[in-house]
Amino acid sequence: MGNMTASAQTKSAETESAQAKSTQQKSTQTKSTRRQRELTEKPRYAKGTRSYTMSRIRGKDTSIERIVRSYLFAHGMRFRKNDKRYPGHPDVVLPKYRTIVFVNGCFWHMHEGCGNHTMPKTNTAFWRAKLQRNRERDRRQHDELQRMGWHVIDVWECELGNAMRASRLERLVEQIVAHAPVGASGGTMNAAEHIQHQQTAARSEHDGTGENGENKETT
Ligand SMILES: [Zn+2]
Repeated sequence: MGNMTASAQTKSAETESAQAKSTQQKSTQTKSTRRQRELTEKPRYAKGTRSYTMSRIRGKDTSIERIVRSYLFAHGMRFRKNDKRYPGHPDVVLPKYRTIVFVNGCFWHMHEGCGNHTMPKTNTAFWRAKLQRNRERDRRQHDELQRMGWHVIDVWECELGNAMRASRLERLVEQIVAHAPVGASGGTMNAAEHIQHQQTAARSEHDGTGENGENKETT
């Protein structure tokens, strides 16, 4: 990044001297200056630092959101993302299941009792107040969505680490399909019915085995 900025500055300096000779290049110079400003202003925080993480807000396609979305998509779920019509601009909106999924960073959303959430050592009062406001806002938005008839599911960053990811995502799909799809009447079997059907089938199969076992003993 440092190299890019340096080269942009050099380029800009060159353009400036060129511009002094010819006024025809005025537009190029303006563009170059704007580009240089973008380059110097954009990386306000070094990547990997907490400030960098916190400079990012919901609505960007961060990797934890991508993990959840691509899993759901691969499992046949269709959804809208960052829908601005709903409180909190939910990461995933599944109209068919009237379900909304928030993918939360543990620090930013103050995951209670989570090891990933520790209060910064500096400016502690500021951060505590800010994060508490975030949490209250999250709660308000959840309540509002629930009042609108939405089923709200939170997926936490710490649940998407290597150890828990597979089971969490599996459970997420179960949580989603546990809610009867909206306007599903007749026709093809939906995912929730399908799971129920499988469970019923498994139960009756089990009962059947028991009977067969008894039959075998008597013969
Ligand atoms: Zn957490």
